[in-house]
Amino acid sequence: MLHWSQKGGHSDRRSSTVDLETWKPVPGYEGQYEVSDIGRVRSLDRVDPRGQRRKGQVSRPGIDSRGYRVVALSKNGVKTRFSVHRLVALAFHGSAPEGKPNACHKDGDSLNNCAENLYWGSQFENMQDRLRHGTYSNGTETRTHCPRQHPLQAPNLVASAARNGYRACRSCAQTRAHIQGAKRRGKDLSDQFQVISDKKYAQIMGGVQ
Ligand SMILES: [Zn+2]
Repeated sequence: MLHWSQKGGHSDRRSSTVDLETWKPVPGYEGQYEVSDIGRVRSLDRVDPRGQRRKGQVSRPGIDSRGYRVVALSKNGVKTRFSVHRLVALAFHGSAPEGKPNACHKDGDSLNNCAENLYWGSQFENMQDRLRHGTYSNGTETRTHCPRQHPLQAPNLVASAARNGYRACRSCAQTRAHIQGAKRRGKDLSDQFQVISDKKYAQIMGGVQ
């Protein structure tokens, strides 16, 4: 009789493909979670409260309303949400220096969480980066893309907002409504925001001649 077995210790199967990725403990979560220099987060093997061995796994981050990747880390049964770019900055650049509390993205891409793309900066530096790269709205028309990188061009604009003189991403607005609707039906799609909004964007722009 054949049995699928979990015995056999750990496997080194993946090690050859991840050699170039450096992992460090998440400060405050040493021994539980690690974060890598390309912005991935993983849990380590552990024994759960019922004494079961649990294999560590790479987290699948969601994206928050500001366009940052976020993960929930558990400690003593309490889940806390963190921005991935902050975890990378803390692990690879140490704690934030006085007056520079923001983990900023050098290239202005809020989803590029490579350690080398991040630095601790002031609120001012953070805004300068986002303005320079067109991802920050200060109320004037400097934005060219939404935080999820959909171009803010017709027809990808929320009509009511456009009439009032500012641009809002129609793909993301439709996605928020879609996810809220699914939530009312008991389905949580919040970690699929990027995928769904990209599809909506393709649909909206697909209607353009
Ligand atoms: Zn968008």
